[in-house]
Amino acid sequence: MPAKPHDRADERLKDIFVGASVCAWCKEPYRAIHCAGLCRSCYSIKLELRSKYASYLARQAVSKHRDDLWSAEHDLIVAIKMAESAQTDGRTYGNLHEGDGRTISLELEFGFISRRWLHKDLFNHRAYLFECFTPSQRRYLMYLVSRMSLEYRRRNRRSDSVYNTDSLEDVMKGRAWGTYRVEDDVRALKRRNNRGPQASSRSRAQPPVGQV
Ligand SMILES: [Zn+2]
Repeated sequence: MPAKPHDRADERLKDIFVGASVCAWCKEPYRAIHCAGLCRSCYSIKLELRSKYASYLARQAVSKHRDDLWSAEHDLIVAIKMAESAQTDGRTYGNLHEGDGRTISLELEFGFISRRWLHKDLFNHRAYLFECFTPSQRRYLMYLVSRMSLEYRRRNRRSDSVYNTDSLEDVMKGRAWGTYRVEDDVRALKRRNNRGPQASSRSRAQPPVGQV
């Protein structure tokens, strides 16, 4: 009886994920770290979020009517949603090597790709199609297909975040536990700047991970 081929799917996944330097937000193992523990895409979202939050506060300080704030509020909501989206990707796809290899996960992921490119879900209720794979092969398959969905999500993060009917208060309350809070960061930045130019230049020289 011929020997069964050695299943290298889990080994390959561990090579990719374990010990890799990943972006603190999106956790994509194949994206280079750009600054402060974040890839270029996430870092630019973080800078935009800080900037929009500062603009919102400045506008709020001089605003006499609620309507004056609409534009600043909208821009801030979009930036918050983009930041949440990037961090959601990290939670969803950041530990695929530890996943349970469920067929339903593959059905949903293939369905997402199918809807985006074909505008039709060819995999709805087709989880059984993936039963012929072992759990480790399903994990690896999930990794492969997630590369396409993550790329799509990253490219469309802004347009997916623009349409919104929630208030700023609800969007801020709806942020996931443990995700980046711009209001805390801006307060920390102010404290750091108030310590004087020497402290500021030291801080710029060695930015703490995830806190730039
Ligand atoms: Zn990232």
